[in-house]
Amino acid sequence: MRLTGIRKTFGELVALDSVDLEIARGATTVLLGPSGSGKSTLLRCINLLEKPDAGQIDMGSGPIDVGGKLSPRTVREIRSRSTMVFQQFNLFPHLTALGNVTLAPIEALGRSRAEAEATGRELLAKVGLADKADAYPDRLSGGQQQRVAIARALAMDPDFLLFDEPTSALDPELAAEVVAVLAALAEENRTLVVVTHSLAFARRVADRVVFLEDGHVLQDGTPDEFFRSEDERLRRFREVIG
Ligand code: ATP
Ligand code: MG
Repeated sequence: MRLTGIRKTFGELVALDSVDLEIARGATTVLLGPSGSGKSTLLRCINLLEKPDAGQIDMGSGPIDVGGKLSPRTVREIRSRSTMVFQQFNLFPHLTALGNVTLAPIEALGRSRAEAEATGRELLAKVGLADKADAYPDRLSGGQQQRVAIARALAMDPDFLLFDEPTSALDPELAAEVVAVLAALAEENRTLVVVTHSLAFARRVADRVVFLEDGHVLQDGTPDEFFRSEDERLRRFREVIG
């Protein structure tokens, strides 16, 4: 996926200032940067939860101008390619784990219940929750809820999986379970874009680190380049966060 000239303002505030970014298929891209640097906004622009003021998104079938007026069809087209996993899991409380994972495939993709449930059980097993299919969210730990949310995202079979600080609401132990699932997905060469404050995660899983500052891409390179960079701002960030 290629983003070109993505700009997003909130009134006077320029949250993203002409961001260019290539997101490689099959790789894990980690977005780092100080609070307020535009990480969440960028992620949200990728699937049009926020509408950019200007820019283009190319999901592989040619650039689409996302600055102008967007037809519902274009929005659907772009949204269908990526799925977002949020910090606060956002599970439907009145549905079981399996119900959460099968809802969108049935409603949005038109899958039969039997098919959606078979796939849903496989995905729950994949995130280590085969035995929790019938549990409601309030009976699951935060880490388990987040893994259900990941299974739910996978059920849409997206080209791009977007994660906004998927572990930051979790205690370290529970976060580790979620990181293990993300690492396994990365191993399978799925395309992941992960916003995190965890340098350990970036070190372990990233193929590429993109560092944002004030709505700009300050550095875009290998994890090695990020961790070895002598740039004063990157050094300071590593010291403060690490
Ligand atoms: P954090 O690490 O704290 O999550 P972030 O890098 O994700 O930060 P964003 O949430 O993308 O930062 O915010 C970028 C800038 O845009 C910030 O200055 C923020 O206050 C502003 N902003 C984000 N969303 C909105 C909104 N809906 N309305 C107004 N301003 C917003
Ligand atoms: Mg954020």
